[in-house]
Amino acid sequence: MRYTGPSCRQCRREGTKLFLKGTRCLTEKCAVERRGYAPGQHGQSGGGRRSKVSEYAKQLREKQKVKRIYGLTERQFRNTFDRISREQGVKGTNLLVALESRLDNLVFRMGFAASRKAARQLVRHGHVEVGGRKVDVPSYHVRPGQEIRMAAASRELIVVKMAQEFAARGHTLAWLQVDAEKVVGRMTERPTRDAIPLNAQEQLIVELYSK
Ligand code: SF4
Repeated sequence: MRYTGPSCRQCRREGTKLFLKGTRCLTEKCAVERRGYAPGQHGQSGGGRRSKVSEYAKQLREKQKVKRIYGLTERQFRNTFDRISREQGVKGTNLLVALESRLDNLVFRMGFAASRKAARQLVRHGHVEVGGRKVDVPSYHVRPGQEIRMAAASRELIVVKMAQEFAARGHTLAWLQVDAEKVVGRMTERPTRDAIPLNAQEQLIVELYSK
């Protein structure tokens, strides 16, 4: 099942910002900024048991972290891994590229929604077109060159406007081409690992799933 509890708690559990709440994540209200220790009764005890984490525990945490960042269930995440396992190349990179190529992720990365969760809602509710056709499947695998566009009737959505403001503060990734005015964009090429802004050790996930 998808975790539906408080987003900030997930970040504090992972000890890092997972950027699950849109603009709030960029402010000092962010719970990791304010309380950068694990949630719960033993969160502040530090050291001790937590310092002796096993290799398996590290792999597990890394998998949980990446899974949560992209908002996938265990089954969806595992299916993605199984799919990329059949591809040539570095498994860890292929995994991240597959996650980045999801329609919901790209809608978020292009700044049309303030979080991946909001992007998923936009896709599910039929506000997004790929190559001129409505696609309401968040996991849809977008290929380089395909155009992603907000449906005409949806461009004025407040949520999109807010997200555009949000996007204006950052910069677009080199492998994305975005026209924020027209709310349209495309992935120009398959990203390299270095071009994916994700602080993760994906190799640990590969090791975990390859046991
Ligand atoms: Fe995570 Fe964002 Fe909450 Fe910070 S504000 S703890 S980054 S969800």
